[in-house]
Amino acid sequence: MIRMVEVDKYFGPLHVLKNITLEVPRGQVVVVLGPSGSGKSTLCRAINRLEPINSGVIEVDGKPLPAEGRELAGLRADVGMVFQSFNLFAHKTIVDNVMLAPIKVRKMAKSDARRTAMELLERVGIANQAEKYPAQLSGGQQQRAAIARALAMKPKVMLFDEPTSALDPEMINEVLDVMTTLAEEGMTMLVVTHEMGFARNAANRVVFMSDGDIVEDATPQEFFTAPKSARAKDFLSKIL
Ligand code: ATP
Ligand code: MG
Repeated sequence: MIRMVEVDKYFGPLHVLKNITLEVPRGQVVVVLGPSGSGKSTLCRAINRLEPINSGVIEVDGKPLPAEGRELAGLRADVGMVFQSFNLFAHKTIVDNVMLAPIKVRKMAKSDARRTAMELLERVGIANQAEKYPAQLSGGQQQRAAIARALAMKPKVMLFDEPTSALDPEMINEVLDVMTTLAEEGMTMLVVTHEMGFARNAANRVVFMSDGDIVEDATPQEFFTAPKSARAKDFLSKIL
């Protein structure tokens, strides 16, 4: 579903993605781990072309990433993204946040968009917050709203970039539970996270990045019990 072949990305002289080759097959959950600055966010942002790449190929659902224009909007609609900061529109209610893109991009009728939005809010457990504004919700509720908003576009793939790192500890699980359910339902997901429990339980594969390289690509079982590289061993010794 996501296919990256020999992708390079530079910020000026800084080589932040080094010849990255990575596949996320349909229905798989791949967790990306790695130290700060290793290129995890850049990898996510390259996949929906928030960051242009310098060389290599990225395909989503068998189609190479378009450079711009209408096709790029289509790609973005197929790739849902959830960030650390929830990025909800502050001046719109939760349900309006979820309805917005389906109406604008998918040209969905308002009544249909509202019905779908309410179903999604139900699914992430915050239907009772629909008419509130983002600032009136807890962090965990806002992040679940952000997930519902991404799902409203019926994406083929969901990218998560540290979706729980801005949350108070007691709210982390409510977001991870939603993500785990999505994974169980067969959503294709690429997830950058420091939540090792999620990586162990929900991931089909763990990809470990260091310094712009994919250093390991293994099952969670292999990665957590027998990491091969010194860099992964060092990383695990610091976080486990
Ligand atoms: P973290 O765990 O802290 O989120 P990360 O693995 O997501 O880190 P990236 O944000 O992808 O790392 O950054 C990779 C490298 O690229 C870092 O050295 C960072 O400083 C650099 N970088 C990221 N964005 C930019 C930018 N817009 N301009 C210049 N350098 C950048
Ligand atoms: Mg990051």
